[in-house]
Amino acid sequence: MFENKDKSNTPLDKIGEFGLIKHLTENFKIHHKSTVKGVGDDAAVLNLTNNQTLITTDLLVEGVHFDLGYMPLKHLGYKAVIVNLSDVYAMNASATQITVSIAVSNRFPLEAIEELYSGIQLACDTYKVDLIGGDTTSSTKGLLISITAIGDAKKEDIVYRSGAKENDLLVVTGDLAAAYLGLQVLEREKQVFQVNQKSQPDLTKYAYLVERQLKPEARKDVIQILRDLKVKPTAMIDISDGLSSEILHLCEQSQVGCNLFEEKIPLDPQVIATCEEFELESTTVALSSGEDYELLFTIDQNDFDKIKGNPNFTVIGHMTEKNQGAHLVTRANQKVAIIAQGWRSF
Ligand code: ADP
Ligand code: MG
Repeated sequence: MFENKDKSNTPLDKIGEFGLIKHLTENFKIHHKSTVKGVGDDAAVLNLTNNQTLITTDLLVEGVHFDLGYMPLKHLGYKAVIVNLSDVYAMNASATQITVSIAVSNRFPLEAIEELYSGIQLACDTYKVDLIGGDTTSSTKGLLISITAIGDAKKEDIVYRSGAKENDLLVVTGDLAAAYLGLQVLEREKQVFQVNQKSQPDLTKYAYLVERQLKPEARKDVIQILRDLKVKPTAMIDISDGLSSEILHLCEQSQVGCNLFEEKIPLDPQVIATCEEFELESTTVALSSGEDYELLFTIDQNDFDKIKGNPNFTVIGHMTEKNQGAHLVTRANQKVAIIAQGWRSF
């Protein structure tokens, strides 16, 4: 029989599908009483009675959404969970369970899939969500990951994209554009590496940007902070495709317009410095770059005092009457129409 001497390179067909699933999932902890049966039967069983249930899915395809040339598999697993949890938090809900489906080509050894699952497990433990199932299959080329997240919230707590009113304040969490610039830095280093395999990139000056690209976090903390402050946003969305397209979603679904103030857009100093280095316009990058996974929401003006001075939040504009449209007010006090220029992976 074929002996695999390289311990770090176990072919997947050696362990078999069922062995693989068991191996990958047996060390996951269950955090929620609502998980009655997780992995191991024909279907998971959940006991979701009191609240409303939220469900969201994302599909990530190698070469389209991620490049394993600079994305370590553990980070990929972590990020794949995060992007889904972010969608649940964007509804002002708690995330409770996930399913994970993967299609893997035989170019991946067992150890690679273990790495992927170690990132998934870290995200599950950090965000206290239960892995309750999934599917495993082979692919002729590359890696696909589809994750479904399940969450719950009281009916009256759920925040939709459609609730923003004229004169509401537009608020964003954290800062923007870092993940995109992290990707630009990594792309550049990859090209340098292709020319000179001995090159060792020094990324210290871009540490925050690279971290935002490779290890993004979902703003579970913000959902708790808003609860503690007794602020219920009138509308909310997570920023996965860039500020401009998310603002337009809020405006369209809420039937309002918006004034966004350029000078208010929160940017990290590394973002500003790296934009200069890459000769990019930081406002344009903030408007059009994706993958920040911050939350964008609107609040009633009466709630302003509750969030004022809180370092997690920046008021970047206000909503207007629908016919006024969605505009960026520049530093030179000019009004420019906001157009959708969201990050597109295809
Ligand atoms: P079936 O043939 O009924 O689809 P599977 O053998 O695919 O069953 O799955 C067996 C169990 O393992 C199920 O509970 C399923 O949800 C779970 N599972 C399968 N693949 C994965 C995966 N990649 N990650 C987590 N759980 C998985
Ligand atoms: Mg199956």
